[in-house]
Amino acid sequence: MSVKENLAEIKENIGQACKHTGRNIEEISIIAVTKYVSTERAEEALDAGLIHLGENRKEGLLEKYETIGDRATWHFIGTLQSRKVKDIINQVSMIHSLDRKSLAKEINKRASSPVPCFVQVNISEEDSKHGLQASEVESFVDELQTYENVKIVGLMTMAPHIEDEEKLRGVFRQLRALRDRIRNKGYAHAPCEYLSMGMSNDYKLAIEEGATHIRLGSSLVGE
Ligand SMILES: *Cc1c(COP(=O)(O)O)cnc(C)c1O
Repeated sequence: MSVKENLAEIKENIGQACKHTGRNIEEISIIAVTKYVSTERAEEALDAGLIHLGENRKEGLLEKYETIGDRATWHFIGTLQSRKVKDIINQVSMIHSLDRKSLAKEINKRASSPVPCFVQVNISEEDSKHGLQASEVESFVDELQTYENVKIVGLMTMAPHIEDEEKLRGVFRQLRALRDRIRNKGYAHAPCEYLSMGMSNDYKLAIEEGATHIRLGSSLVGE
């Protein structure tokens, strides 16, 4: 299937999820996760009208960036080692995987202007998943106030690979409630408006529960 065909179907589903919940489709950014696919396929995504591309490894990002450059808006969505921050900081527009103070410190040091970051939260508490525990997030955000170049724009999570819709909704709702609490504090460094949640198998539910950034790989560009 072409990216264009996949996107048409996905937009249809997004439209329905928005309709069910009275949301505006404009609130949702689709990030095409290109980690499994070639640079050519990533370019096909741009040709289909997408602008946000997501990569989870430095190497994949830089390889595609070499050809595509700033024709795309780049999102870093994977575990980020502090020593690699300097290699990607000028290429990426948003980092979705801020999960520790040492990483915030390194971003702050290497960036020349504030970097929009999502704090990654391990809502489902699976051992295999990265991210802070929900109970740690508020104090973590509070501690980042002195880092001028780290701007907390929202929270991110990866839901477990399960079919149970109510459980999935529960994960998304918890992230949203946490987002609301932090947003309501009115921090200058942490407007915390956004929710990066929803992947190929759960994005419809995520949108119904408030997602603003959905990260789609297999269903959009393929695996
Ligand atoms: C791979 C990946 C995705 C996309 O996963 P699909 O299920 O293929 O849509 C989204 N978010 C993160 C963090 C990923 O690593």
